[in-house]
Amino acid sequence: KNFKDMKFPKAILESLAKKKIEKPSPIQMQGLPTILSGRDLIGIAYTGSGKTLVYVLPLIMFCLEQEARLPFNRDEGPYGLIICPSRELAKQIHENIEHFTSNFRKHGLPAIRTCLAIGGIPTSEASDIIRSGVHIMVATPGRLMDMLNKKIVTLDVCRYLCLDEADRMIDMGFEDDVRTIFSYFSGQRQTLLFSATMPKKIQNFARSALVQPILVNVGRAGAASMNIVQEVEYVQPEAKICYILDCLRKTSPPVLIFAERKQDVDTIHEYLLLKGCGAVAIHGGKDMEERLRSIAEFKGGRKDILVATDVASKGLDFPEIQHVINYDMPEDIENYVHRIGRTGRGSSTGVATTMINAKVDEAVLSDLKHLLIEAKQRVPPFLASIITEADQLNEDMGSDGCGYCGGLGHRITACPKLENVQAKKAGDIGKKDYLAESAADY
Ligand code: AMP
Repeated sequence: KNFKDMKFPKAILESLAKKKIEKPSPIQMQGLPTILSGRDLIGIAYTGSGKTLVYVLPLIMFCLEQEARLPFNRDEGPYGLIICPSRELAKQIHENIEHFTSNFRKHGLPAIRTCLAIGGIPTSEASDIIRSGVHIMVATPGRLMDMLNKKIVTLDVCRYLCLDEADRMIDMGFEDDVRTIFSYFSGQRQTLLFSATMPKKIQNFARSALVQPILVNVGRAGAASMNIVQEVEYVQPEAKICYILDCLRKTSPPVLIFAERKQDVDTIHEYLLLKGCGAVAIHGGKDMEERLRSIAEFKGGRKDILVATDVASKGLDFPEIQHVINYDMPEDIENYVHRIGRTGRGSSTGVATTMINAKVDEAVLSDLKHLLIEAKQRVPPFLASIITEADQLNEDMGSDGCGYCGGLGHRITACPKLENVQAKKAGDIGKKDYLAESAADY
């Protein structure tokens, strides 16, 4: 029940203290001993539960052990590989690892080298570190595939694989890439899979990629954090942009604003700048440098507001977000949970405001209604009045809701997300590289 009992060295305990992390969170109490003992693991945890440390700390320990036994030579490694869906998240994981390994020399421990393999930065940055022997690699699937193909890196000594945000990775069409990456492994490995939701597709994927995994489930997969006050407001489409200013009065900064479409992100950003607010914006249409700069300004507290599409909604850790404003309701409830999960992290509380109106699909509103009920939040009259077929029949949908997306307001036969995926697949038949194209949309 504490980090000391897990026998982490002084250097790591010191770095934990620096981040004011004193006591392991529930997923850490269950996940750390599991991984340290060598077992495969599926971790289902709401965002902000502290899952990054669950796979980062054991990996650092294993690397220290390897290095002590037989130091890594030039061109050797990585021993551990962490794959995640977005560049921003990869960068954040990389920073986290560096935070924990940077004081090793001071404590007389061997240096642990970590490299970042993501699009938008030169491959040479990673290959320079690989050349001197690398222990840990944090990568997005596209860049990693490219480097494997070009033989810039091999997975010959890789024995530890972590897939973070696995649900998002599969959603973005990276499943084939990830399976191809598996084929580059040459030895038995320990595999960890983390996901906020656990739809059937991920369950099947996990079954084929992991060996007798231990399942650590903190809360219902897809449930929202209880630390968030969720407010849902009925706002007419044309009044939405002005309503943002009202929302901003609710809390102090920092505030995150989400919109589905890139154009809306730009419009909101421009509107806020005109009103004199300190805002930055990120979406897939902006170049990497600008995205990273905006995130750094927001993280550093130099800007109060970040306007973003869902690229930023998953995995990115912005400490102390006070308020998440959803300019629109996402197409599926999973995204809603991910978005609002940016606030109320750790033990702090947060507010999430979501604008809805009659244009929003009824199925997702029904999911939202049930999610609010589950999290003991106020259900506005407009939402309460939505009675779906499933409600009417009072059918038992099971405590996990829809088998595909985990939404509580419908069954798999009426799943809007599944319908979208199927429609997209049907539309894409004949298109050559449709997975890459859909991934580029984010
Ligand atoms: P994660 O879910 O891994 O993205 O972590 C969310 C945030 O919680 C990060 O800022 C961590 O530094 C922080 N955190 C992780 N573990 C703990 C803990 N045991 N106690 C307090 N904060 C933590």
